Amino acid sequence: MKTQLLRIGDDIVALHAVVTDEGVTLIDAGLPGDRRILRRALAAVGRDVSDIRGIVLTHGDSDHIGIAEWLRAEHGIPTFVHEADAGRAQGEKTPGAPGGRWRVGPTLQFLAVALRRGALRPRHLGAVRTVRDGDVLDLPGSPEIIGLPGHSPGSIAIRVPVADAIFVGDAVTTRHVLNGSAEVQVGPFSDDPDLTPESLERLRALPERAIVVGHGPIFRGTAADLLSSLGR
Ligand SMILES: [Zn+2]
Repeated sequence: MKTQLLRIGDDIVALHAVVTDEGVTLIDAGLPGDRRILRRALAAVGRDVSDIRGIVLTHGDSDHIGIAEWLRAEHGIPTFVHEADAGRAQGEKTPGAPGGRWRVGPTLQFLAVALRRGALRPRHLGAVRTVRDGDVLDLPGSPEIIGLPGHSPGSIAIRVPVADAIFVGDAVTTRHVLNGSAEVQVGPFSDDPDLTPESLERLRALPERAIVVGHGPIFRGTAADLLSSLGR
């Protein structure tokens, strides 16, 4: 079977599944209420939760860890996160970063989705496995970890060549959650937004043709195309 990339959720908050003959790798874990949409998406391709071999987090923020603890506690599925974001994923408080310019409509839309999908009941991880820059994980799709500090210290790009995709989490957004802007830009709430474009340079030469973000539609192009959209 050809590797499939499932997009689960919507352009406000999405998680993704890489489906291969060896099983499923989840990239990020959405919001706490996302069990049902995960099950439905897997069922549509003839899989279920027991096919998931692991979850890789692009970073440790609460809108990306949603159902990870449920999958760990009840199904024994491990979550992998960069060591610098391990504390964040396990509930350590971090200083809030500014979100930038916002508009009422898109902000309310984000909040409505977040509420409907259980964001008020965050469940932090009881245990994680840590990864480092350069690791290639023994999971379906052989995800490769590329450090991408900026949005958070432990933000990573997850390169999955068999899916022709690189997952960049909130380093970049194609739909700003606070103002609805569809311009390709550095994600809001970044700890160090100036560091992100510099980190993205590390992806420039990679051939994958889809850059997958946590919020907004998939960017159809290479990392070099993405960088030129960012004015670099
Ligand atoms: Zn996010």
